Amino acid sequence: MELKSTLIEVDGVEIKEVSCKTALSKSGLEADYSLNPYRGCTHGCIYCYSSFVIGEDRPWGEFLDVKRNIPKVLHDELDKKDRGIVRLGSVTDPYQEAERHCKLTRRCLKQLGKKDLPVLIQTKSDLVTRDIDILDEMEADIGFTITSLDDEFRKRFEPEAPSIGRRLSAARELSEEGLNVWAFIGPILPFENDREQGLKRLKETLNSIGIEEIYLDKLNMREGIWREMQSLMDEEMEEKYKKIYFGDDDHFEEKREFFESIGKTVF
Ligand code: SF4
Repeated sequence: MELKSTLIEVDGVEIKEVSCKTALSKSGLEADYSLNPYRGCTHGCIYCYSSFVIGEDRPWGEFLDVKRNIPKVLHDELDKKDRGIVRLGSVTDPYQEAERHCKLTRRCLKQLGKKDLPVLIQTKSDLVTRDIDILDEMEADIGFTITSLDDEFRKRFEPEAPSIGRRLSAARELSEEGLNVWAFIGPILPFENDREQGLKRLKETLNSIGIEEIYLDKLNMREGIWREMQSLMDEEMEEKYKKIYFGDDDHFEEKREFFESIGKTVF
């Protein structure tokens, strides 16, 4: 059944309600389980590889499946599962725009809170602050992906995601609330967001709003992503990237020491 357009609309995105059979799946990403209330993500990041992870053929960013029954399915599963950390949104952003209306993440958080399960959330959205009332009562670890202080970078590579300013304000609010907040600078894109001055300013800004825990990662370059990236590059840049990703340019190793002065590298 399709959602009524008055209920939720995201430009250029085909949104439909679906039923899911399971809510929690085994996770290897620093958590025991992952929980994705949506299939798809409307933030439309150029570098996103979630479609490859879940084997999705539809154009990423142009569809969204809303798993309308996931809070109920989760409720039933929680009685049978072992205790563990639950990662919200391993292949979607649990606080993308649709969540404002659908409240699936919020309802799932309530279920997890009742069972006293720790949660790990990673988002690009300030909507997460809406759920401070629930998060305050839980063991919650909240990560903001903040790839650059430059909002022009965000517009090119994460076109539909909330602005960097909104993410920083939200991170500050959660941090001031006493929640454990960390930042993820990823992907680092050579010659785009990896300039030393820019990364130093980003680290200083994050520190100034109470974030000391910072992680950096590089781009997981797959064929489909390479095509997307090429569409944003001129010939000169394309040649540089070919050498780094498909040739013998050791760009990331050469800069590793500097990256580690900014945060913990996970590549
Ligand atoms: S926010 Fe995450 S899941 Fe969504 S498009 Fe961007 S990288 Fe992909």
